[in-house]
Amino acid sequence: MKAVLLLIQIVSKSLALKKDRKRAGEYWKMITIDKDNKQITAAACVRCPDPFFQRGEDVLEKVGCCSYSPVFTLFEIKKMADRDKNFFYETIYKHPEAIVSSYSIKIEAEVNPAFEKVNTSSMLPMEKEDTKLSYSTCQFFVSNQGCGLPSGYKTSVCRSFICCTVEESLSKERKEEMNDWIFYIQEEVKAFNRSHEQKLKSKGWTLQEQPSMVVDYLKSLPDM
Ligand code: SF4
Ligand code: SF4
Repeated sequence: MKAVLLLIQIVSKSLALKKDRKRAGEYWKMITIDKDNKQITAAACVRCPDPFFQRGEDVLEKVGCCSYSPVFTLFEIKKMADRDKNFFYETIYKHPEAIVSSYSIKIEAEVNPAFEKVNTSSMLPMEKEDTKLSYSTCQFFVSNQGCGLPSGYKTSVCRSFICCTVEESLSKERKEEMNDWIFYIQEEVKAFNRSHEQKLKSKGWTLQEQPSMVVDYLKSLPDM
């Protein structure tokens, strides 16, 4: 009986999603490549149609893939150091959910208390993590608006992640163009982090032990 109810729920959810897409016509297939801010956005995100990123319960606000816990690397910290050091210290470094590593800071997403009531005892670890994600919301998500971070501070994942549902809707040419941009966005960040992690390691400075030395070092580099 439970399985039948679950099947009915899945089928009606998928029919509702199809209806959403139909209502939105071709618009939901659009992506925008914002070359100034080096980020890719999709029109579909407003009413996220991706089955994997649906919420654990209908009462939870839809956040799409902003259920993520962003990881700020030296690349994003450099931008904060140039524009607003205070933002870095107050909003990222001292965030109550910050996990500070040597050269990056993860801000753990907020998990809705309803997750505690979900019976996860028979779930595999990955299934449990996926379920938890469906109850999670990024700390920078602003209700009814979306991302509350200035675009220059967004992580490379936030600037380049596009789900399979949107990707599959694109033409071959648009998909190729998007993938070139994803590669470029990610490589720029990787190259910066690789090079400056090495330099900071050789000085013996980390974000955990010498945060102000790391921030001042990043600020002393040419503006980005
Ligand atoms: S990228 Fe895909 S999963 Fe993320 S919000 Fe947009 S439609 Fe949803
Ligand atoms: S930082 Fe912004 S774009 Fe990234 S997951 Fe959070 S709300 Fe979404």
